[in-house]
Amino acid sequence: MRLVILGGPGAGKGTQAARLCSLLNIPWISTGDMLRSAIAAQNPLGIQAQPYVEKGELVPDPTLIEFMRSRLDQPDASKGWLFDGYPRTAFQAEELDFLLDDLGQALDWAIYLDVPPTVMMSRILGRTGSDSDESCRLDDQPDIVERRIELFQERTIPILEYYEQRSRLLKVSGDQTPEQIQQEILQKLNQV
Ligand code: ADP
Repeated sequence: MRLVILGGPGAGKGTQAARLCSLLNIPWISTGDMLRSAIAAQNPLGIQAQPYVEKGELVPDPTLIEFMRSRLDQPDASKGWLFDGYPRTAFQAEELDFLLDDLGQALDWAIYLDVPPTVMMSRILGRTGSDSDESCRLDDQPDIVERRIELFQERTIPILEYYEQRSRLLKVSGDQTPEQIQQEILQKLNQV
């Protein structure tokens, strides 16, 4: 199974990605996590990405596209995968299809977790105050979260139409419990 999960900051992508990957036995490939590790390691990718990630801006497309190309070459990606945080722009969505074409592969579904921006904001601000894993993210300050939500709407929402036109979009309401969301995704994956 080859999947991408789409949703704004705080939409619950990580929670659903973790569950789906363990159920389907596919690797969870999160660009956000990979960029944060690269920044922590201060390797060339990290040094390049850091100024963008810190401000909640998008890392330039060529950097991410190149990185995903090499990630897909790794042996664990041959049995399928779930991308979390990629694609994030229409350009990345097209490039992903070109790349998969080259590899003789195709995306099965793009799962969109639909959550109102007000809910995204309150979830992230809520988790900053808790002791969850993600509570120490430096880009969780309110003005930066606002920018991330704005960029989601400007740059990522247009991808929905791209997948809709290709009959690959599964839209799920993200304003339910994690359990209900998971059930809805699994039902839709089996039914279509
Ligand atoms: P979010 O909670 O906003 O969905 P992520 O963990 O997916 O956060 O990403 C964190 C940051 O990493 C983004 O704000 C952006 O700077 C960078 N990033 C992640 N994926 C991409 C991508 N596909 N293209 C450009 N930048 C990205």
